[in-house]
Amino acid sequence: MTNTWPPPVEILAVYYSPDEALIPNTLSAIMNTATEDEDVRMALQCMSLVQTPRAGPDDMHVDSDSVQMLHDLLDLSDESLPQRFHTSRDSYNVLYLHKLKSDGSKVVCKIATDCDGEKLLRHEAGFYEDKVLAPFRGKEIPNYFGFFEGEWGAGGKITCLVLEHCGVALSSELHKQTLSFRKATVRAVEKLHKNAGVSRGSEYEHENVIRRPNGQPCLVDFAHARRGHKCSTEPIDCDYVQAAPYESCQELEEVAEDAWAWVFHKVSVPALGISMKYDKDRTAEQYWSQHKRPVLHRKVPDEEGVAQIEKALKEWEEDLKCRLDHLAELRDE
Ligand SMILES: [Zn+2]
Repeated sequence: MTNTWPPPVEILAVYYSPDEALIPNTLSAIMNTATEDEDVRMALQCMSLVQTPRAGPDDMHVDSDSVQMLHDLLDLSDESLPQRFHTSRDSYNVLYLHKLKSDGSKVVCKIATDCDGEKLLRHEAGFYEDKVLAPFRGKEIPNYFGFFEGEWGAGGKITCLVLEHCGVALSSELHKQTLSFRKATVRAVEKLHKNAGVSRGSEYEHENVIRRPNGQPCLVDFAHARRGHKCSTEPIDCDYVQAAPYESCQELEEVAEDAWAWVFHKVSVPALGISMKYDKDRTAEQYWSQHKRPVLHRKVPDEEGVAQIEKALKEWEEDLKCRLDHLAELRDE
């Protein structure tokens, strides 16, 4: 048993300052978490495979003839598992680390114990089971081992999605990674959009890009994934900082922005509430005379308008220079 009380000293130290008394609410939260983890450990023993309509033997990495129960798949004899490592931001779903019975490799168990969380897991299971995603599993997205359900408390239900544990999540933005990793990540998102017609359906976050042990990226968290995405965004080239196309889908725009592969045509001037198409040959005075009409009601003096535009242009040019210098540094590495 590892979920013992009290927790190890180093865990308590996070919550305990020598100058303060122990905070009762925090202690109670730790105790509740430990109890819940133990309840989850017990529940995993008797969870059965959910046969979803879309899944068939060819669709899943789990052999549905031999794996009907979660205990067929996971090594439940190891009492140090499951290990909680993350709580979802948009639900109460908790991610636990576990291992496969067959070869001991690490897997992630996404656990839901309420209806809203179950809905998200069920939706995500449908995504992983989709035939169109088969070529991506184990590469651009994690391998999928099945969706299981069992009893939780008095009349409740617990559900569990089992996925490959792919590696470590990025702790900083894509433009801080090597050029080859930036390219591979952008390619992975483009492939999902264009070859599979799938978008993640939620805001891009670099924490959802995992670095596999072989150095390749793996995209995770498809709780809100959408099928039928028709992506007409032009290919993103990370080898130089290019002007953003006028038409692009939001998700690729966010990835390209995080990778510093694009620079936007529009220069926004927040103080004036306007945005202008960048033109290196145009002066601040020319911009102001073109854009002053919509802000006349603000009674902004000409000098002030020109000064604000000059400031915004300078920042835009500095940002572009920073991206170009950074790209040159990456190439030299
Ligand atoms: Zn797209």
